[in-house]
Amino acid sequence: ASSGDGGAGGRRSRRVLMFPLPFQGHITPMLQLADVLRSHGGFDVTIFQSAVNDADRPARHPAAAAAGYRFVTVGAGVAAALAETVPSKGTNSDFAGIILRMNELLRAPFEDSLREVLAEDAGGDDTPAPPCLVVDSTLRGMQEVASRLGVPTLSLRTGGAACLVAYMAVPELSDKGVLPPPSRDPLQLDMPLTELPPLRLRDMLFSATSTHATMAACFECIIESIRCSSGVIFNTFDDLESSELQKIAGGLSVAVYAIGPLHKISAGLESSLLTQDRSCLEWLDNLEAESVLYVSFGSLASMDADELLETAWGLANSRVPFLWVIRPNSVVQGSGSQQEQVSLPDGFEEATRGRGMVVSWAPQQDVLRHRAVGGFWTHNGWNSTLESICDGVPMMCRPQFADQMINARYVEEVWKVGFQLEGKLERGVIQAAATKLLRMEEGREMRRRAKHFKDRAAVSTENGGSTKAAISMLVDLIKSL
Ligand code: UDP
Repeated sequence: ASSGDGGAGGRRSRRVLMFPLPFQGHITPMLQLADVLRSHGGFDVTIFQSAVNDADRPARHPAAAAAGYRFVTVGAGVAAALAETVPSKGTNSDFAGIILRMNELLRAPFEDSLREVLAEDAGGDDTPAPPCLVVDSTLRGMQEVASRLGVPTLSLRTGGAACLVAYMAVPELSDKGVLPPPSRDPLQLDMPLTELPPLRLRDMLFSATSTHATMAACFECIIESIRCSSGVIFNTFDDLESSELQKIAGGLSVAVYAIGPLHKISAGLESSLLTQDRSCLEWLDNLEAESVLYVSFGSLASMDADELLETAWGLANSRVPFLWVIRPNSVVQGSGSQQEQVSLPDGFEEATRGRGMVVSWAPQQDVLRHRAVGGFWTHNGWNSTLESICDGVPMMCRPQFADQMINARYVEEVWKVGFQLEGKLERGVIQAAATKLLRMEEGREMRRRAKHFKDRAAVSTENGGSTKAAISMLVDLIKSL
């Protein structure tokens, strides 16, 4: 079932191949983009998925399969080795090393899968126009394979533009001896980076466990992948990051398409790896407008048992209504092992009855859109940050690794739609922060600014808006490749 002219008379639609990194924060925007390309360009879509956590994806995607999406599993033969790459240490995982290893493992199996897909298309009267591949910017290995086989590529960057600008500066900062930081002295880490205002040295630490060399190799992979592609697609919008987008277009000499916020323009293929507990939406229905703090740290970040305790009592003592997501395995013991079942402290339930709800995974976009939600305590993954901004919800920020510190810094210093909780996580600090965000003028001012961006995001997706225009240019580019 295909539509669109595909750019060549008599041929079937051009097929777009897509390959996300198999993490929640990367799968979701890729599937949203798939929907946008199908609906705006009439393209047929084939999604490669690595045999990690989503090998059963087609079965979980009846609606997508019915709509004509095709799913191809890559790397079944190396599934055991791939499974070992899945981050098992929460926040303390070596994310840069994991990305490099996934590239190594997936490269050969992807070449086999891609050859098969290309062979299927060859021959016959209705030979489709040759496909192009939209690949996650971290999957440089797949991009190289595609180029070698003559398949043009586009890169999907699932982080913000500000983050990529920071990554682009890493070679220079390394040459100058600024990175890696000579010590972890807090005063030194607070040093502003004159090359990247308003970032500080601490915002560039990426991960407590990836070495500087691994991190730099991972960034090089991302940047080369973008540089070697026909264009880079961002889930952001012009009014939020125009100067950063310009720096990327100039610095990497690549066509840049800012087509976000994707979750506001795609029909939303089911992409959640965990089952969402929708009962929290009914619970929210009974609460006052803008009164609830939503607390969630995404799909990978973790906390230790002490932080769990402080968070619980901080929320309880604040008297603010809250919806708290505690993901299975998200509490890590001192030994590094994960607790499947998390126990909350004695007395917590009684202390918060009627104004607190804990779930293991929430329908986050619906939660942030709910009128009862007035603030978001987040780890500042890019999707969470953008989802919050585009629904006018101000944030209290507790970034942990990768781009999260950069996003949080922009939230606080550039967009001024939230503030950071730094230092040791203590109940008194949490209580004060929740009160400030939900009950005080400072929080209200941040909410007003977030609503301004919500409006700008909405304008960008309308006719004449920057996102709408970028989508149409992207569709034209794909048809021309
Ligand atoms: N998410 C969700 N339910 C939750 C928590 C998160 O559906 O309870 C979704 C959220 O809407 C976002 C994604 O998971 O789209 C998390 O991506 P993000 O980039 O924020 O963080 P990551 O998980 O990559 O650290």
